[in-house]
Amino acid sequence: MSEGILFVLSGPSGVGKGTVLDRLFETYNGINYSVSMTTREPRQGEVEGEDYFFVSEEEFKEIMDRNGFLETARVHGNYYGTPRSYVEKTLAKGEDIILEIDIQGANQVRDIFPEAVFIFLKPPSLEALSRRLDKRGTESRKSREIRLENAKAEMAEADKFDHVVLNDKLDKAVLKLKAIIERERKEEII
Ligand code: ADP
Ligand code: 5GP
Repeated sequence: MSEGILFVLSGPSGVGKGTVLDRLFETYNGINYSVSMTTREPRQGEVEGEDYFFVSEEEFKEIMDRNGFLETARVHGNYYGTPRSYVEKTLAKGEDIILEIDIQGANQVRDIFPEAVFIFLKPPSLEALSRRLDKRGTESRKSREIRLENAKAEMAEADKFDHVVLNDKLDKAVLKLKAIIERERKEEII
């Protein structure tokens, strides 16, 4: 049996990765989602084990020390990581999986899994990104500033990715992502 396909969706914080994926999963199944681990505080409404596994810095470092992560990154002052075993087991079963991670993480995955499919979600502009972070209402002014500052450098990384999807109109971005996934799956079969 051949291995499943690893998809990596990345892009600046606030571009809409979570929103696009939520919308995709409403109508599209058969692709597994890797739940990340983080040391940041849960936001209102976030569910343990669904949005993230929320852990202390101590727990995170313990898992890191025993090589339990596929990749890790310190993003905007918190640690984030992809638990290794779920990804490896899913791929070994021949099932596809998608990671929603930041750009540092995507760069690490590229070193280990160059055959993965890397997708960069791009905002229409930095102003639009700023408005989205405002609209989400989850970040302090300081945290928004850090995210926007990081986004400037992150945008320059887009051309390392296999696909760039513009998230202007949400429906269009979801359709484009779906088309990319379907095309990659078809190529795998052929
Ligand atoms: P990320 O997961 O990349 O950090 P989110 O999915 O949390 O981003 O989206 C950030 C904010 O932007 C949310 O308030 C969301 O509703 C909004 N958003 C996402 N996609 C679009 C879009 N295409 N147009 C306008 N607002 C959007
Ligand atoms: P947020 O705090 O807004 O949920 O996430 C902040 C950033 O961290 C987002 O760009 C998000 O995609 C990224 N992120 C979430 N999980 C992971 C992970 O496991 N690894 C890495 N490298 N980044 C992650």
